[in-house]
Amino acid sequence: MKNNYGLPKIELQKIFDRDKVCVYCKKEMKSHEVNNERVDWFTIEHLNYMPPWNNPATVTICCWACNSSRGNKKIRDWFETAYCIDRNIKEKTVSKSVQKYLIEVEDKE
Ligand SMILES: [Zn+2]
Repeated sequence: MKNNYGLPKIELQKIFDRDKVCVYCKKEMKSHEVNNERVDWFTIEHLNYMPPWNNPATVTICCWACNSSRGNKKIRDWFETAYCIDRNIKEKTVSKSVQKYLIEVEDKE
C-alpha cells in the first residue's frame, strides 16, 4: 500500500492535525513522523469497512490496538465485542468524526 493511503498528502496532514488521540479509546497519539520514520503504533483507520478507501471524510487516526481489534467489522458490530465493552468504547464515547460517520453512513446501509 502506498504510504499516503491513497490520499493526497495535504488531506492526510489535515487528518493528523484533527485527530490527536485515538478516535475510539482516546489514547494520545504521538506525531506522525520522527526522523522521517513511522514511529509508535497509531494507525490510519478507515471508518468504512469496504472500499473506496481514498475518501478523506472516512479516514481517521486510531491506535494499533483498536485498529487490529476492529479489523473489518462494521463499527456498531465492533462496539458489541468484549474489547469495546471492557474499554467502554461506544457511540457516546468515540470522537465526533466517528459519530458523524455512524449516523450519516453506517445507519443508512
Ligand atoms: Zn484506541
